[in-house]
Amino acid sequence: MKKYTLLFLIIGAISLPSLIACGGDEIKTDAPAEIAKEQYRCPMKCTEEILDKVGACSVCGMELEKITKS
Ligand SMILES: [Zn+2]
Repeated sequence: MKKYTLLFLIIGAISLPSLIACGGDEIKTDAPAEIAKEQYRCPMKCTEEILDKVGACSVCGMELEKITKS
């Protein structure tokens, strides 16, 4: 019975780091396939309006700031 316990511990010791390493690979993110679209929004967030080009806020007139999507 002790032999099996030792074997289990050895298998556990070998498989655990490899499982962690495997998980680490999955966390690694690839660049999104879709083309990053630039979006602009009022820096004061006084409106939910999001435009795809540079402009001024229709409410406060401030220059829209670029939204960086992650
Ligand atoms: Zn505004």
